[in-house]
Amino acid sequence: MKKPRIVILGAGYGGLLTAVRLQKKLNANEAEVTLINKHNYHYETTWLHEASAGTLHHDRLRYDITSVIDKSKVNLVEDTVIEVNKEAKMVVCENNKEIPYDYLVVALGAESETFGIEGLKEYAFSISSVNKARHIRDHIEHQFALYAKDKKEERLTIVVGGAGFTGIEFIGELANRVPGLCKEYDIDQKKVRVICVEAAPSALPGFDPELVSYAVARLEKKGVEFMIGTPIKGCTEEGIIVGKGEEETEMIPAGTVVWAAGVRGSSIIDKSGFENMRGRVKVEPTLLAPGEDDVFVIGDCSLVINEEINRPYPPTAQISMQQAEVCAKNILALVRGGQLENFEYKPKGTVCSLGDDDGIGVVFDKKIKGTSAAIMKKVIDNRALYMVGGISLLMKKGKFKFL
Ligand code: FAD
Ligand code: NAD
Repeated sequence: MKKPRIVILGAGYGGLLTAVRLQKKLNANEAEVTLINKHNYHYETTWLHEASAGTLHHDRLRYDITSVIDKSKVNLVEDTVIEVNKEAKMVVCENNKEIPYDYLVVALGAESETFGIEGLKEYAFSISSVNKARHIRDHIEHQFALYAKDKKEERLTIVVGGAGFTGIEFIGELANRVPGLCKEYDIDQKKVRVICVEAAPSALPGFDPELVSYAVARLEKKGVEFMIGTPIKGCTEEGIIVGKGEEETEMIPAGTVVWAAGVRGSSIIDKSGFENMRGRVKVEPTLLAPGEDDVFVIGDCSLVINEEINRPYPPTAQISMQQAEVCAKNILALVRGGQLENFEYKPKGTVCSLGDDDGIGVVFDKKIKGTSAAIMKKVIDNRALYMVGGISLLMKKGKFKFL
């Protein structure tokens, strides 16, 4: 009998954990598993703000996919997915052209959402991959180096769009990095401006107000400027344009602009004809795409409603990994002819770092801040490594400097 072909798109939190769980559960020769990913490495998306600020080398947050998959059970294809052809049950890739499937898992992650704001795509950076993180770090350093030559002060201004979790975590790292950069490039630190521009009336909108005040105060103490209730309206080569009042705008000259003000699901979702909201498919309780009996969508490409408030759960690594566990079980059920399980998200909490040494969070309904939050953040980072690669990956890549 022909072996069922299981194809997984994306080796991030959702896709890689699905592959690892399947390789453990499947018997030899029970199915053919193919994992397609842009690169031969996995990266911890949740650590990208550190590499972008230059507080952590990008090699620390990535590892070879082959170090965690069993090559006798999972076939890794290093390629870029262009489209899914659901009718032909085929994945179209840049190099391998067409890869057929019987069961598909779409776990291609997120892309930056610029909401059509002019100039952002051309002139602002986004924290969304190893390559982009490396580029941001190098660009900031380059600006500091050039300042020595031309003394253009705007080179030393870094604007971060959005005070969501990504923006705040990146600024936390930057605030710790700036003193070292100034020392390295002989720059008076008073000349450096790190500005966080947020459209909503508060940083980290919706998060615990006491913890938000703590975070803002800690970052302000390190020199970060906040422009709250200020929407970004445009971006040029020279800097950022922000709204001021009803009609007016103001130009803030800046050498570096990082857009961290929103994400959407992979553009492959829309291109492949899945019904979606900003690249996210509102999946069935089984994680199948609506109307499909062989395509699962998980991670940032999926949308799961929190029934209590009738709003989608935010896209996180936490939900992606929980989905991967259920997705692997459901694929196994399809292969073996069993019953599909419904996914039920069990949020454990949220921790937001403010650099390596500080943070805020709510874990199992308990508020934490300062050192305890910073330690908890590392425990969470380490847990994700352990879940995918066990103790050996944790020992190789884990964060063990707790203070
Ligand atoms: P990802 O883990 O992003 O993986 C997607 C994979 O698909 C990547 O390997 C990518 O290379 C690959 N890929 C993409 N397009 C293609 C293509 N066309 N062809 C082939 N391969 C492709 N969440 C938390 O829960 N806690 C946190 O502390 C946290 N911190 C974060 C910090 C930052 C800076 C950012 C940016 C996000 C953070 N998040 C956090 C959110 C979290 O990272 C995402 O929700 C999570 O990564 C989604 O997992 P995923 O599997 O959907 O996608
Ligand atoms: P987000 O959508 O959560 O936050 C974006 C922020 O940008 C919002 O505060 C929004 O008001 C602001 N914004 C939007 N348009 C703007 C404009 N024109 N001008 C100025 N500000 C504007 O996006 P994110 O922070 O990238 O997070 C993406 C996902 O990743 C979320 O689900 C988040 O929970 C998750 N994440 C989690 C963590 C963590 O748990 N520590 C860290 C990073 C990201």
